[in-house]
Parts: sequence; C-alpha cells; structure tokens
Amino acid sequence: MTITPIIGLEVHVELKTKSKMFCGCNASHFHVEPNTHTCPVCLGLPGALPVPNQVACEWCIKLGLALGCTINQDSFFERKNYFYPDLAKGYQITQLQKPFAVNGKLDVDGRLIRINRVHLEEDTGKSQHVGGETLLDFNRSGVPLVEIVSEPDLSSPEEAKKFLIKIQQIVRYLDISDADIEKGSMRCEPTVNLKIDNVFTPLVEIKNVASLTGVLNAIQFEIDRQTKQFQEDGITKATGEKTTRGWDADKSVTFLQREKEGSADYRYFPEPDIPPIVFTKDQIEAIRATIPELPNAKIVKYKALSLSDYDANLLAENLAFSAIFEKILGGSTNPDFAKFITNLLIGPLKTIEITIDKINPLYFQNLFDKKSDLSSSVIKQLILESYQTGTDPLVLAQKQNLFQVSDTGALQDLAKKVLAANPQAVADYKKNPQSIGFLIGQLMKASGGSANPQVVREILEKLLK
Ligand SMILES: [Zn+2]
Repeated sequence: MTITPIIGLEVHVELKTKSKMFCGCNASHFHVEPNTHTCPVCLGLPGALPVPNQVACEWCIKLGLALGCTINQDSFFERKNYFYPDLAKGYQITQLQKPFAVNGKLDVDGRLIRINRVHLEEDTGKSQHVGGETLLDFNRSGVPLVEIVSEPDLSSPEEAKKFLIKIQQIVRYLDISDADIEKGSMRCEPTVNLKIDNVFTPLVEIKNVASLTGVLNAIQFEIDRQTKQFQEDGITKATGEKTTRGWDADKSVTFLQREKEGSADYRYFPEPDIPPIVFTKDQIEAIRATIPELPNAKIVKYKALSLSDYDANLLAENLAFSAIFEKILGGSTNPDFAKFITNLLIGPLKTIEITIDKINPLYFQNLFDKKSDLSSSVIKQLILESYQTGTDPLVLAQKQNLFQVSDTGALQDLAKKVLAANPQAVADYKKNPQSIGFLIGQLMKASGGSANPQVVREILEKLLK
C-alpha cells in the first residue's frame, strides 16, 4: 500500500492598510476598544455603499506578482452569501471568477508549488463567547484580506510549514502585512486527502489552525485519521465534495464541522455596487517595480558565495537582516569574508538588536584582515564592543592588548615559569598527556589571554618532552 498525502493551503493575510477595504474606517483592530472603528458600510447597514481601497488592490497585485502570477487586468468583486453573526451584511465581498492574480508558483527547497490564485476580500467581525453569551466586535469587519490558494502540490506537513514560512517572508519583504500567525493577521486552512494506491480519500478542509505547529500537527493528524479510516472502511470513491473539520489545538484532533460544501452553496454573484476594476499594463509594471529582491533570489545569491544552505536561509529570513549583511559585504565576492560576516551576524550580533545605520562595514573588513592575530572569542567580543561604542575594533584590540602573542621567545620564558610553579601538573602529564589542558590554561592566563592557544600547546609539549 502506497500512501501519498495531497496537501493544499489556503492562506489569509490581513493587509496593514490605514483604512478598511470598502470604507474609510481605521483598519487597526488589535487592542482597540470594541466597535469603535465602525461605520454604516462595515456594519452592513442598509443603503451603505462600498468604495474599494486602491492601496489594498495594488498590494494584492504586488503579492500576486511576487508569487509569479499572471495579473488579470480586468477583475471584479463578488458576493459570497452566507449567514453568520459576525458577518452583518449576510455576504462577504470577495473574488471568485476574476481574482487579481492567477497561476503563480513558489519554489520551496527546489520544488515548485503552484499557486492557483491570489485574491482580495474583506475580513469579518470577531465573535467572542463569554459566559454563555456571544459578544460581537466589528472593528475587524471589512479589513482587507488577501487569500492565497495553492494547488494541492505539497506532500508532507513539513513541506506545508516551509511553504507557509516562505509566504510569510515574502509578505513581510513586501511590507504589506505583519503576517503574524499567533496574532491572527495570517491564517491558514490546509486541505488534505490521500492517494492510497489508486484510490483517493475524500477531501478535508481544516479550519481554526492558529500556529505553525498547529498546521504541522493538524495535517499529520488528518493523514493518520484518513489512513485509519481507509483501512477500516475501505473508501472506494472520491465524492468530489469537501468536508470541513475544525482543529482543536488543546486535544490535538480535528472534528467534523460541515459536510458536502461547494461554491454553489454560497450563491456567488457579481457585486452590483462596485464597478469592475481595471489596471493598465503600465500600472501593473509600476507595481512590479516596487518589489524588492525576494528571499529565494537572495538565497541563490548567498549560496553563490559558498555559504551553506542553512546560513543563506538565515540571512535571507528578513529584509532588514539581509540588508545589513549586504551592506557589510559591499562588493566583495570573497567566500571567506562572507562566512566571517555571517558567523558574526548569526553569532554575537544576534544577541543584541542591531540597526543598519550603526553598522560600519570598514570595521568588519579591518577585523577580517587581522583575524589570524586574534582568537575567535576575542573577535566576537570586539565586534560587539565595536558596535556598541562605534570604535574601530582594531583600536580596541590595541588598547586592551588583545593581539595574540605568537612571539615564541617571550612565551617560552613564560612557559618555563608556569612549569616550575606547577610540578604536580607536570607529573600528571607524564602519566596522562591528556591533562595538558590544565597547563595550557595556566599559560594562557599568564599571558593575559593574549597567547595563541595553538602556539601555547606546541611550546608546552616541546618543553615537557
Ligand atoms: Zn467602516
């Protein structure tokens, strides 16, 4: 029996525009007094007319372009009809037939995952259940929401997670959303079914997944559940209908919410209050021109500097961090220098908050040129101190006498003194050469930490013979 998971993701990203999608209300809704950012439009009062947010439309197209999509120059909004208390109008304005962007792709570790569509819609209000009552907050109602729908090309929970992280990085590079999964400004609904030999299990959509770990666990749970169900019932035909299951993060299980749901149930029709949206080729190209170099392109560039996959991914993780790396690197193509900078950035400098303005590339270059005269721990200490004080690390090294003493004559004299002062350690060494560590430590201490440990070891070994 060969089991192949077939996984697709629907990702919702809340745009961080100033105003909402179809009205002028303030779009921020985190830590805001409930129902203070509302108006007749986003409360769905009769007769209120929506006016689309131009910036939101442009950002949706921008994301579509970043994901390699084709942009529909002519597009329009539609009504998706359903009833829920947090949807005051009784319908959501969204896009079905003509989304802004279609047919994209995203490279996830060398595998091209197809993107079906990137469309724009509005968020709903929030319901809160308190002591048997339901409270409604409409501050979120009408906040612009982009939906990215992948084709079911993902084949494992881990790959789905990587895809999600890539989307998050791109959205953040584009600076159109903070894409925070825990906060809910990025949400994800996986669809999962299995191909078991030549049979497909029924498709399940999972709702309410609120963390990256949740995505991983929910998909794995569904794979296991569907496998087990197939073994018990032997499902022989796919119905083509989608079942919706919720994710219970506390119990780590999915549970049935709705059966047999299709787009026909929502009676979609074109939104009569909003004319079709048209973007000219020039407008689309102008949007494309605002897209920065994206994480995948950066990773390729960094790996060309002989950096490892791991390092390249870390450096490209966010735009600010990669900008710092590139500023220090300057035009250099020296792999050793690239690795040297990387080690400092993901090492000591990662422990503090650094800003690009305070970075002086020359100091890194100076330190790199003298790296053979400084121990690695001293280099780490110097780069931190240099960043914090704005001083050339070589000046600091000079002042604190941190250059390694490789002058064997001076070290030899010191070594003789250390051996004379530690007869027991010398006796121990004769029995067990491993114990030389203690004497190395003593000599390093005697040199004020400035000796080169390799040279210290060599001198001691020679004298002890
Ligand atoms: Zn409003």
